[in-house]
Amino acid sequence: MSAGQTSSQGSMSARGPGARPRSVAVIGAGVSGLAAAWYVKQALPDATVTVFEGSPRLGGKLALGEVGGVQVDLGAESILNRRPEAVDLARAVGLADDIVHPATASASVWSRGELVPMPKGHLMGVPGDPGVLAGLLSPAGLRRAEAGPALPSRSVLRVQAETDDIAVGAYVAETFGREVVDRLVEPLLGGVYAGHADEISLRAAVPALVPAYESGEPLDEAVSKILAAQSAAANPKPVFAGVRGGVGRFPAALTESCESAGVTIRRETMVRGLTRTADGWRLVSGPVPAPSAHEADAVIVAVPGAPASRLLKDVAPVAAADLAGIEYASVALATFVFDDASLPAGSGFLVPPADGRFIKASTFSSVKWSWLAESGKTVVRASVGRHRETADLHQEDADLAASALADLRIALGAPDALGEPVDWHVQRWGGGLPQYAVGHVARVERIRSAVAAQPGLAVCGAAYDGVGIAACVASALRAAREISAGPA
Ligand SMILES: Cc1cc2nc3c(=O)[nH]c(=O)nc-3n(C[C@H](O)[C@H](O)[C@H](O)COP(=O)(O)OP(=O)(O)OC[C@H]3O[C@@H](n4cnc5c(N)ncnc54)[C@H](O)[C@@H]3O)c2cc1C
Repeated sequence: MSAGQTSSQGSMSARGPGARPRSVAVIGAGVSGLAAAWYVKQALPDATVTVFEGSPRLGGKLALGEVGGVQVDLGAESILNRRPEAVDLARAVGLADDIVHPATASASVWSRGELVPMPKGHLMGVPGDPGVLAGLLSPAGLRRAEAGPALPSRSVLRVQAETDDIAVGAYVAETFGREVVDRLVEPLLGGVYAGHADEISLRAAVPALVPAYESGEPLDEAVSKILAAQSAAANPKPVFAGVRGGVGRFPAALTESCESAGVTIRRETMVRGLTRTADGWRLVSGPVPAPSAHEADAVIVAVPGAPASRLLKDVAPVAAADLAGIEYASVALATFVFDDASLPAGSGFLVPPADGRFIKASTFSSVKWSWLAESGKTVVRASVGRHRETADLHQEDADLAASALADLRIALGAPDALGEPVDWHVQRWGGGLPQYAVGHVARVERIRSAVAAQPGLAVCGAAYDGVGIAACVASALRAAREISAGPA
């Protein structure tokens, strides 16, 4: 489109109150935006749906690459299977025959120099019976965990009454002692958010424990009940799913399905302005001296907090202010491919930050995913970086990879463990993971209600109700339903 040109889709003037949109624009083509476009097109087959993606590549934090001749995920690599949305959508876009599950569910914690088997019988590190932590905690730490809270939890926890929320770390430390947080809760939460247990919200990150928090029910009893209910469930599903060839195939399959249904996807089109028109929305993209405008009846904003805040600053300032307050952690993933290295059993290990190691976690990818084992190579990846801890990320790629590999070798117990990789790759994810700080759920409620006050506007993505792919897809479905129903 030439400079200053406007494209307009759908005859907006013909729409009456309560009409369904005839044209929908989706901003952002990560898994959330692509899923939102797909759901909108399913609900409104006659609508014109256009996705705007700033970068040349689609998929956001889902990305495939080739390392040592093997196709690997360079970003997200597994999908929560316990909730249906993402796996169902992957099936619907043609990946049904390629949905796989990890070959092993066991993992370890690299704690105090040992690879300790991950305890069983806990919920995000919160034990039903503290005795299960015997191999991981020091004798003093275990005694403290078994002693339980010194005071009824609620009396201490009410200090956070302002938000009626509490950091997971504070809640668990008060009940079971600091060591349970340092050795288990912290690395587990770190694996999801690359964040800090003392800042991450209980309501947002472990909502299953909120009833205990609210009622004052002892935490170990609450966790025991939840775990018993889970194990009593008939034919429990595997917790995680993957895609043969990599989860990075999911956005590609979504793109193909969207495009064959008639969705237009515009790559390298960064949207930098969003305004209301008389009966719809105008998006502005392109360079400042040569802007391009696009009009649509409805818009779904499917980008991270900071760009969402910039886009919404004029149309939903309250939401924009809250979005600007969501902090993000930057991380890097180092992937190593070996001809034939021997690895311990299990899918990998987490690392308690208290031990001061360089890496935060490692996945033995070719042990975890049998499709990768079929390559005949050994594939291992390690993650580096945590919220506000970026010093390690300032290293050059080669130095970062060397430091990660050195840590992996120490974890595996020998300076020559693994041998030399045939290839390696460092993928950086600046601003990769939103931090669900204490009060996040209330923040998201404020954002959603400010957005809902604008007819034909919806938001979705990792900033809201869960950072995982499954939660992102669920938020996309919700946004698509809000838009497809038309103005209230
Ligand atoms: C290293 C890493 C590993 C992870 N591993 C897992 C995992 O194994 N399992 C799991 O479930 N989750 C995992 N996650 C989390 C999950 O991958 C992400 O939360 C999710 O993919 C986010 O998707 P999204 O579409 O909401 O956002 P993004 O993937 O961030 O996509 C947003 C898109 O919007 C585009 N954009 C931004 N601004 C604009 C604009 N103004 N105009 C147009 N386009 C714009 C961006 O270029 C991007 O393509 C991982 C995350 C990271 C960083």
